Order: sequence, then structure tokens, then C-alpha cells
Amino acid sequence: MIRSIVIVGGGTAGWMTASYLKAAFADRIDVTLVESAQVSRIGVGEATFSTVRHFFDFLGLDEADWLPKCAGGYKLGIRFQDWSIPGQHFYHPFERLRSVEGFSLADWWLELGDHSQPFDRQCFITTALCDAKRSPRMLDGSLFTTGMDGSLGRSTLDDQRAQFPYAYHFDADKVASYLADYAVRRGVRRIIDSVENVRLDERGHISNIQTAEHGDIAGDLFIDCTGFRGLLINKALDTTFMSFEDVLPNNRAVALRVPRADVTEMEPYTTATAMSAGWMWTIPLFQRNGNGYVYSDQFISPEEAEQELRAAIAPGRDDLQANHIRMRIGRNTESWVKNCVAIGLSSAFVEPLESTGIFFIQHAIEQLVKHFPDEHWNPALTRAYNNRINRAVDGIKEFLVLHYKSARREDTPYWKAAKLRPMPDSLAERLDLAANRLLDEETIYQGYHGFESYSWNAMNLGLNRRPPANPALKHLDANIAREAMAQLQKEADELVATLPSCYDYLASING
Ligand SMILES: Cc1cc2nc3c(=O)[nH]c(=O)nc-3n(C[C@H](O)[C@H](O)[C@H](O)COP(=O)(O)OP(=O)(O)OC[C@H]3O[C@@H](n4cnc5c(N)ncnc54)[C@H](O)[C@@H]3O)c2cc1C
Repeated sequence: MIRSIVIVGGGTAGWMTASYLKAAFADRIDVTLVESAQVSRIGVGEATFSTVRHFFDFLGLDEADWLPKCAGGYKLGIRFQDWSIPGQHFYHPFERLRSVEGFSLADWWLELGDHSQPFDRQCFITTALCDAKRSPRMLDGSLFTTGMDGSLGRSTLDDQRAQFPYAYHFDADKVASYLADYAVRRGVRRIIDSVENVRLDERGHISNIQTAEHGDIAGDLFIDCTGFRGLLINKALDTTFMSFEDVLPNNRAVALRVPRADVTEMEPYTTATAMSAGWMWTIPLFQRNGNGYVYSDQFISPEEAEQELRAAIAPGRDDLQANHIRMRIGRNTESWVKNCVAIGLSSAFVEPLESTGIFFIQHAIEQLVKHFPDEHWNPALTRAYNNRINRAVDGIKEFLVLHYKSARREDTPYWKAAKLRPMPDSLAERLDLAANRLLDEETIYQGYHGFESYSWNAMNLGLNRRPPANPALKHLDANIAREAMAQLQKEADELVATLPSCYDYLASING
């Protein structure tokens, strides 16, 4: 029986893991977390997926309590700015497409041919809320979509049926500290110290870690949350890390925390703006924006990237300190080796274009609990876990490659090279298919990776990659679809007229 778990690392991954394990197992398993005061957290990772709702609800946390304490805001989707034509934008929202006569509204949009309005504005409600900067909640706290109020309870990603309509933005350091408090109050032993050495036993399992000031710490199961260092999984256990740089070349980022000039305006979405050698994120938090430029150092130097970022969002604010980050893009061949499981950046990371880092963490923790080992360390469980983690990462890798392949920009060497770069064969086939018909759940990547077919289509159509309309629709009653689209627009107008602004709602829960 596994009685003790030792987590090394106290970033978002370490504290999400510690708090979830306590919520799941309570005092039946001892959890110790060791974090170094010398090595700081990465300090980014502030936008999430809508499925993160399951995580907070599993912990029994109330959004009205934790969100203000983490300087949080709402995210209804991602706004892609300048990815096709400078000045143009489209959204990838958390909203499944409605269906009419067995076909999605996207199919009908192609058939009806009224492209005076872009696809996302005609087929999703959420885009109107984004443009108008509305909150997804009324001032009385009720949600704009019916039937989804209240907690999702102790459910996991596997239990998701209806899609929750929003995700969160939050301050990375505040969320780690909030979860640390939660975990320590529930009995996690927190040790602030640096791990200097890792000892293996005769089976190659980790027997204990040696710390600078607290001596040796033994455990049954070790979780590596040491970030890009991979102290346990890579350095001690020598696991191979597979780079994705051949298809996803962005290998650096520079981040700035920028106070907002107008504090009473807040966007309920993440913005991803195309730049000369990559793209820039804008994540609105309650008191500031998080900004960062993700780029490839083959095309721009760190100094030039910092200059371009500052010129775009904070001219004249030389006092703001830039955080330069070297990114390790790819995944371990296996994230669970012997008695060590890597979670967070130590396991895998694709660039942050679709905010998938925290999703990977949530997915890994849930799968660890579902494949939980005993003293026999059944290799079939380990294999099944690793396959699941690898498939999810590989699926997201392909989805991100699609962003660059489908983007229309070719105005700089970086964007020209993006068109020439190789891509996985399976993705090439899928893009071929997408040129002829919309993708569906069967034809997007096989295996759970958090994205549904509507996401793949939202990106392609947003980037003006349109297949011809499905000929079957010529034989159906188009008036039903026209009415459905008109109804959707009516609902969107009513919501824009009645929902409070994102800022006003958050101000109300911030007291
Ligand atoms: C540029 C960028 C932008 C990102 N944006 C997003 C986003 O918008 N959304 C999203 O979901 N994800 C995003 N991510 C990913 C996200 O930041 C991470 O998934 C998340 O922060 C988890 O980090 P971590 O805990 O694995 O690592 P870290 O935050 O690096 O934490 C590592 C921990 O290990 C400890 N440690 C290291 N060495 C030792 C040692 N020897 N002894 C003891 N402790 C040690 C450190 O003290 C620290 O506590 C982004 C990542 C990058 C690089």
C-alpha cells in the first residue's frame, strides 16, 4: 500500500497536486511538499481552460471566495488578433456549436453564404459577450446559460457532458499560495528547502531525496513538480525528453506584468496577437494585465523581442521588469517512471497559445488518482497512464501546429518559415480533409486532448480556411437554419443588454 507521497516543487503544479491529493485521499495518505526558496516559480501560466472548473469544484472551493483572492478574471475564449490580416480578429470561445437538422451551424454558415458577418459572430453567442466585455454572470451571481449554475461537485474531466461556458484568468503566484494554504490546512507537510540529491534503491526506484537543511526525506511515491529542470524524472532517472521544436519552434518568451491604465475596463478573454516572430498574450487580471511575447530565437533576439513587446503594450514604462524565459517544448517519453511521476513543466509543455499547461496538470493529477499504484507497481497501470498523458500532449501539439499552418500571415521570415515547416503526417491528412469538409469528432485527433471538433473548425474558419458547403444541405430546409441563426443573434443582443460588464461583476465580488 502507498502510504506517503513526496512532491518536489511548489509552483502551480506542486500545489495543485498537493491540494487535489488531500481532497481525494484526506489523511489516508501522508503528503509532503518540498519547495526551494532559491529557485523561484516560473511566474506565468495565468489563463486556463473551462474544464478547470472541475478542479476547483472537486476541492470544494467557492469561486466567489478564491477568484478575488487570486486577482482573477473571466475567460470566455481566446481572441486571435492579426493572425490573418492585420486589424482582423476572431474568437475561439468555450461554446459548442448548435445543431440544425443534424448539421452544425458552421455547416449552415458555409451553405447560406451570407459571409457579411464572420463565422464566429454568426454562430456563437459568446463572441458578442466578448466584444461587449460582458461578465458571464448577472450581478445576483446567476450564470448566463441555464442549467449550469452550482458546483460540478467531485467530478473529473471524464465526467464533462455539457461544456462549462467560461474559464479563469488568475495571478500565478497568488493561486499557488492560495492552494498552498488550502493544502497545508488539510495536513500537507510543507518543507522550504532545496533538494540537492536523489537516492535510488537497487530496483532503480527513488528511495529518498536529500535536502540542504532538513536531511533525507523518504517516501513511497515521488512527484516531480520541479518545472523545466525535471530534477527527478530527467536528472535522477535519466528519462529522455522528446523535443517538439521541429514543428513548434517557439523556444523563448518574455513576460511583463503591466498595471492597466483604465482599471474599470476588463476583457473577458485572453488575446493572442500575432507579432513579427511569434505572438503576444494579454491576460487581464483584476489589478493588472499579464503580457508576454512567445517567439523563436532563430528569428529575433531576446533584446529585440523585449523591445517589440514594450513598444506594443507599455511604451515609456521602462520601470516594469521583464521576465525572460527559455522554454523546453516537448514531452518525456514517459512521465511516470518507476515510483516517480512528473507533473507540470517537468512532464511536458507545448507553447502556451491555447493555455494548456494547467489543463495538462489537472489531467495528469486526475489520471494519477485513476491509475493509483500499490506496492506491486503494476507496469500495466504505468503504461496505461503514460499512453494517456502522451496522447493528450500529442493531440494538443497537432492542434497548435494547425494554428500556424492555417494562419494567413506571410509578411516576415518567421511567418514564411511557418508555412514551410514539416508537420506530422496525421495532421497533414486532417488538414487535407478540412479543405473539403468540416472536421467532426471522428476526424479530429483520436484520443482525448481537451479540444473538440468545434475548436478545430473555429480555428480554420476564423483563419479563413473554408471548405465548400456540404452538398446535402441543398436538399434541406434552409429557413430552419436562418431562423436558428436569427434566434442566436436575438439571444446574444438580449444578453449584451442585460449582463453587467466583466469589470462591474468582478468588482462586486471583490467587495
Ligand atoms: C511563457 C509561458 C506561458 C505560459 N502560459 C500559460 C497559460 O496561460 N496557461 C497555462 O495553463 N499554462 C501556461 N504556462 C504553463 C504554466 O506556467 C505551468 O504549467 C505552471 O506554471 C506550472 O509550473 P510548474 O509548477 O510545473 O513549474 P514552476 O512554476 O517552475 O515551479 C517549479 C518549482 O520547483 C521548485 N524547485 C526547483 N528546483 C528545486 C529543488 N532543487 N529543490 C526544491 N524545489 C525545487 C521551485 O522552487 C518551484 O517551486 C505557461 C508557461 C510558459 C513558459
